[in-house]
Amino acid sequence: METLQCPTRPAPKPLLNRTHEKSGDTGASAPTRLLILGGTREARDLAALVAGLPDVEAILSLAGRTSMPLETALPTRMGGFGGVSGLIQFLVDNRISRVIDATHPFASQISENARQACATLGLPLLVLSRPTWRREEGDLWIEAADNASAARALGEAPRRVFLTIGRLGVAAFRAAPQHCYLVRSIEPPEPAELPPHAEVVLARGPFALEEEIALLRARRIDVVVSKNSGGPLTYAKIAAARTLGLPVVMVAPPTGARARPLESLDAAVAFARGAAPA
Ligand code: NAP
Repeated sequence: METLQCPTRPAPKPLLNRTHEKSGDTGASAPTRLLILGGTREARDLAALVAGLPDVEAILSLAGRTSMPLETALPTRMGGFGGVSGLIQFLVDNRISRVIDATHPFASQISENARQACATLGLPLLVLSRPTWRREEGDLWIEAADNASAARALGEAPRRVFLTIGRLGVAAFRAAPQHCYLVRSIEPPEPAELPPHAEVVLARGPFALEEEIALLRARRIDVVVSKNSGGPLTYAKIAAARTLGLPVVMVAPPTGARARPLESLDAAVAFARGAAPA
């Protein structure tokens, strides 16, 4: 009898090697197969905490925006999944049982994708998100809803601007070509996206307050533009501007991002080990 040869998809290569124990068979509880969506200090800290746990098999996912990401203690995959459907496929192929979204507060697309994918598969999802910075006494903040508004908020008169919003948002400032920009980013922006009078400095935080004050003074900066990213790594520029009495145009996180639940690292570790989301 002839056997029909059906084309089959190649078996996915699991990124997590250990077999998934069945708790009923062994008496031991099954390890969590955890996906951490990263790209942040919080994700790296969490990776270090879960790496040694015997009851958690975890993988970290990075978008691949920086060519030399900092090392972490977990197996790491890089690059987009291919939207919600690609993420669902990844979760299924790797038999992921829990997801922690520890992405940046401005990374709203991947957070929404994770929400939809986990809802579709019925997987528990926890969001580990840092609080945004709060205005303190002495701060001269001009709030902006997005980069385009921030560019307008710089005004008509030419100013010396310290632009620290990451390389991907600089194109919005081509609409305000009268200013001189000192652009700081981890990776160089595309030259075509820079405003005409721009100098780029490449650096990765954390930054010290004294260094930030010295930089603002040396470059005779009039105004700082920053995303309200929260967290300690890049806060020194905000404190430096306060110290020097300089205004900060502060770009708010995307709409909806503020509604993200905030969880502590301890809560994230407990979730990784099987606790229900608080
Ligand atoms: P985004 O706009 O939310 O995501 C755009 C696309 O990038 C997503 O749809 C996804 O592609 C892919 N992606 C994002 N994060 C990913 C991850 N952790 N693993 C795999 N794919 C990911 O994100 P973004 O603002 O471009 O930020 C990219 C990454 O940089 C994030 O992981 C974030 O934590 C980190 N980061 C962002 C900022 C910022 O200001 N936005 C600052 C510091 C660090 P597919 O749809 O193909 O899956």
